[in-house]
Amino acid sequence: MKNVVIIGCGAAGMMAAIAAAREGAQVTVLEMGRKPGRKLLLTGNSRCNLTTLDPDLCEKYASLEDGSCSAFVRTVYEQFSVSDTLNLFEDCGLLTAAEHETWVYPVTGKSESVLGVLLGELQRLKIKLKYNVEVTEISRQDDMWQVHTDGWSYPCDSVVIACGSRAVPSTGSNGSGYELCRGLGLDVTDILPALTAIKCRLTREDCRPFTPGVSSGKAAEDESGKSAAMDPLPLAAGTRTAALVNVYADGNFIANERGQVQFTQTGVSGIVIFNMSRYTGRALHEGKDVRLLLDLLPDISQEKLTGTLERLRQVRPDDSMRGFLTGILPPGLIPLFETETDPAAAAGQIKALELQALGHRDFDNCQVCAGGVRLTELYPKTMECVRNDLRGIHIAGELADVDGPCGGYNLQWAWASGYTAGRHAAM
Ligand SMILES: Cc1cc2nc3c(=O)[nH]c(=O)nc-3n(C[C@H](O)[C@H](O)[C@H](O)COP(=O)(O)OP(=O)(O)OC[C@H]3O[C@@H](n4cnc5c(N)ncnc54)[C@H](O)[C@@H]3O)c2cc1C
Repeated sequence: MKNVVIIGCGAAGMMAAIAAAREGAQVTVLEMGRKPGRKLLLTGNSRCNLTTLDPDLCEKYASLEDGSCSAFVRTVYEQFSVSDTLNLFEDCGLLTAAEHETWVYPVTGKSESVLGVLLGELQRLKIKLKYNVEVTEISRQDDMWQVHTDGWSYPCDSVVIACGSRAVPSTGSNGSGYELCRGLGLDVTDILPALTAIKCRLTREDCRPFTPGVSSGKAAEDESGKSAAMDPLPLAAGTRTAALVNVYADGNFIANERGQVQFTQTGVSGIVIFNMSRYTGRALHEGKDVRLLLDLLPDISQEKLTGTLERLRQVRPDDSMRGFLTGILPPGLIPLFETETDPAAAAGQIKALELQALGHRDFDNCQVCAGGVRLTELYPKTMECVRNDLRGIHIAGELADVDGPCGGYNLQWAWASGYTAGRHAAM
């Protein structure tokens, strides 16, 4: 019987433990927190969007170092598919239902139900769970792997490292998994926050960068003595609206998506923006000039919008752009355009509001990380390290350089890579 140690009791670690135990191994899970699945409980606004029914899901993943990783992910999903995920959960007693066609949630609407059935299965399979143990090193001794914690070592035949990323470190994923992997000599990429809000500024010539505390729109002199208004973007904070978001890097189109955009004090947020942050993060990391063009009225043509504004100006010559926009934009967005006097120019800006991406929110405020253990270090059929001296070491979950958009993709990756790693660790 093989002895398998799993490091991390998150989504990937629990799935790896179940797979290894079902394969007949003796399994120990080492978790540095006091409780299992702390991040899992936060997922999907505590409802847990546990997988996706998107038929093209493999195309939606990316790695930081190698760009598209759909071939790698597809091979992993051939070992453990979305149907396998749904069947396993149903086997364990979890009933699920899809919303918006592809987003799968437990019917209870509670992430704790997902954690509960996983823990039930761990118990049924007599998997040993140890809490408050942080793994600090992995070494090789006499044909066995030794997993070291503060004051104790666990000898084993194989190890699954499932320590997560650096996203929301308060859930336990504090980046220590990357250090364990580096300690083994594995190539780990840079790590960036992804699925997060984008900090940005309006790029209009008449706007200076926003200075907190100085009222927006107020004329101020720049170093050259030229008068310029403050960036009015923060005035829109709190407004949500439907938009089509196009992303350009160094002038080249890289991605777009349509949905609800939320304006914040420092930029833009919402699911669409989270998805776009996977592209803007990579492009900024490469030192590119990144622009977001927001079409704030995606269902109205520019001609129709211009015509409407021109007609309003004719019939209401004493009114202002603010007045003309009352029935066209949510109130919070009007200050962004009210200084424009020309209807065609205002329509152009509303159809393509240009924002320059300046950065992103930090690791405390992102859902996943881009980057991780390089995929060239791993066999996708087993999630085992390719290097001969690392045979028996498997990597699972977000620790690998794979990230997906919002909508169940990242948990599906955790389940599938976890199951694949655990099963082969036990063989
Ligand atoms: C707010 C939020 C909402 C999300 N919503 C969704 C969603 O609805 N759908 C979706 O698909 N994805 C969602 N995600 C992403 C998803 O939760 C993660 O991709 C997934 O949980 C990663 O699983 P993991 O097992 O790889 O890592 P984690 O869940 O982070 O687990 C890693 C575990 O390893 C432990 N650990 C770390 N280092 C050590 C060490 N040295 N020794 C011992 N233990 C260690 C940690 O304590 C932790 O328990 C969301 C993420 C966040 C933050």
